[in-house]
Amino acid sequence: MSETDNDLRELYQDMILDHGKRPRNFHVIDPADCEAVGHNPLCGDKLVLFLRVGEDGRIADAAFQGTGCAISVASASMMTEMLKGKTAAEAKKLWAYFEAVCKSNATPADMTEGLAEDDIDRLQALSGVRHYPVRVKCATLAWRTLESALDPKAVKKVATE
Ligand code: ZN
Repeated sequence: MSETDNDLRELYQDMILDHGKRPRNFHVIDPADCEAVGHNPLCGDKLVLFLRVGEDGRIADAAFQGTGCAISVASASMMTEMLKGKTAAEAKKLWAYFEAVCKSNATPADMTEGLAEDDIDRLQALSGVRHYPVRVKCATLAWRTLESALDPKAVKKVATE
């Protein structure tokens, strides 16, 4: 690995730590067009995801609220930043890519087709959790919640426990 790669990796590690400490888009959207609740019982991470969809069908706003470990919060924070301006199909493509890199860093090239370089770098950095299998559930919680938020058949209302 070159020195530049190391620097880049450190930069992204710092970014993840920063998002974990100071999450972006950490608020309620009311009314939201899509809403879903995610829970990771293994770690105790819980979050509610809110999406507002614009006239053009693109995600105009994304936000979340909840409690959880730094990785789950950082992942949700970074995801809400990435989602803005994306269509549902583009968002699902990002999740498919992230899910794949969380399992293996050898992903088929066509999975990155059409994805922004910056989004790929961020997801690559987050996928470092694959070395800690328990943490993968934390890092993917926001994205699994997104999947249900985008499912038209899903119940969008907040579940009460
Ligand atoms: Zn967690």
